Amino acid sequence: MTEPGTPVGAVAERATAGFRQRYGTEPAGRWAAPGRVNLIGEHTDYNDGFVLPFALPLRTVVAAAPQDGERWTVWSELADSPVEFGAAEADQRGRVTGWAAYVAGVVWALRAAGHRVPGARLAIASDVPVGSGLSSSAAIEAATLAALVDLGGLDLTDDRRPRLAQRAENEYVGAPTGIMDQSAVIRCRAGHALFLDCRTESVEQIPFDLDAAGLAVLVIDSRAPHRHADGEYASRRKSCERAAELLGVAALRDVSPNDLDAALDRLDDEEMRRRVRHVVTEDQRVLDTVALLRAGRIRDIGPLLTASHASMRDDFEITVPEIDTAVEAALAAGAYGARMTGGGFGGCVLALVDADAAESVAAAVTAAYAERGFPAPTHVTVLPTGGAHRLT
Ligand code: ADP
Ligand code: MG
Repeated sequence: MTEPGTPVGAVAERATAGFRQRYGTEPAGRWAAPGRVNLIGEHTDYNDGFVLPFALPLRTVVAAAPQDGERWTVWSELADSPVEFGAAEADQRGRVTGWAAYVAGVVWALRAAGHRVPGARLAIASDVPVGSGLSSSAAIEAATLAALVDLGGLDLTDDRRPRLAQRAENEYVGAPTGIMDQSAVIRCRAGHALFLDCRTESVEQIPFDLDAAGLAVLVIDSRAPHRHADGEYASRRKSCERAAELLGVAALRDVSPNDLDAALDRLDDEEMRRRVRHVVTEDQRVLDTVALLRAGRIRDIGPLLTASHASMRDDFEITVPEIDTAVEAALAAGAYGARMTGGGFGGCVLALVDADAAESVAAAVTAAYAERGFPAPTHVTVLPTGGAHRLT
């Protein structure tokens, strides 16, 4: 079997080498944060519902050391040159732009919460693909946050970190995202998925030991161009909010699956009915998945994953031909279940497979792509890992 994901040692080495080369000294430490993938629960977050992400063995590593004054210098192997900013730029939202805004946003959020953030030099390397929906943004935020908290000896427990990283992204970078990504990359544990209630923000570790069961998750990057994803996301969100209003509930999470038919009868718009059906049934699929995992029945979640995909395809209408092709090919090649993961209109597909079948399932997907004339997809086989931490 190939090593799932990529080893943290290699990416940490690149961050360290970048730090030495850029700053001519040794870093004081290195901090890693993973990407994440959502096992099930799509478009449920902004409906106050449930999600179930797990952390990927693909990581962003920040090598860092303190520097005098309130100055921050950041370099990333993905960028041409380092970016420097001081307290004035950090304190004014949006002043630092581009990729470095994710780092400046963390400094801003910490300072806004009253922390004394130490000046620092940072060098960043990453194996998390950027913009594929595996949350490289939360990974860079979480690794930066862990580094600054440790360097400054700041008092910020793990349960308070996701909110802070989310504020960095929402308010400094200006990207509207829910709390899932930051919660996952900070709070996930190895061998577990993170059951997150998006209304209360409470989390629970759910056993998901793929390795012990001889299983793995194959993550396929569809490489489909994100077609109108922003506008489509906004219209889905609006439709859900309007439906909740019409039904007289705070959010669609409050519609019980038992009352779904009655609720749908009260809506005139056929499209809106389908949107509601997706959200309500998807919340229930997350709960059913959690129940099966608690009972140690990992293989049995396969049909729920596949049903989630059908619901996204037919009711929420957020899949694209590349994505549907990958799901169908994975299932035909023996996956226990497969679904698109992420907001839709591109991004990744995940498939639950026997660990020793991962490569043959991936090959079947690649062949199906070739047949349809799509550009070849990429893939990685993963096991659930832990959240952000300091490397020794
Ligand atoms: P995703 O989180 O799905 O990967 P986003 O659009 O939310 O996609 O975040 C991607 C952005 O985050 C990049 O365009 C870049 O600005 C920033 N980013 C993520 N990782 C890095 C990195 N290692 N170095 C520099 N910038 C990064
Ligand atoms: Mg992101």
